Amino acid sequence: MSSDCCSVSETSQKDTVLCPLCGEKGKPVSLATVGAMAKTGVEAAKLSAREYNLCLNRDCLVVYYAGEVQLEKSDLRVPVNFKERIYEGPVCYCFNHTVASIRAEIQSKGHSTAPAMITREIKAGRCACEVKNPAGTCCLGDVTRAVQAVIAQLKDMTGALQPSR
Ligand SMILES: [Zn+2]
Repeated sequence: MSSDCCSVSETSQKDTVLCPLCGEKGKPVSLATVGAMAKTGVEAAKLSAREYNLCLNRDCLVVYYAGEVQLEKSDLRVPVNFKERIYEGPVCYCFNHTVASIRAEIQSKGHSTAPAMITREIKAGRCACEVKNPAGTCCLGDVTRAVQAVIAQLKDMTGALQPSR
């Protein structure tokens, strides 16, 4: 589990509610996150529940659920990084580091400055993961994994990563 940098309101780990579509265990997500992520056109009924859970199963279309109420990927205003197998979009939603931008930086400089930059911004209190990240939690773990994945991918392609200077 990635560490939470932000003051995410900790919902108590009571009964785990299973995703109604895939049946996997979800985890509680705050109302602030659901409200901020929902597109403007989403029916009010979908936003009327009081407690939502997040489905982390990558292959499941449901992102948030609460009883009969479900919000799918298409109901959200941002692409959801943990729901895609092939993904180039944002991994850090606060400062908009995408898989594509991380790859471009590694290709040109040989490394990524994104994790250090995000750490600085977190310390300065400028991240807003609860309302910008669809998981409602800090992105740093995802960003670190994305950097490692890109480096591994590039090594596979070239045999060795060669920083151009
Ligand atoms: Zn699911």
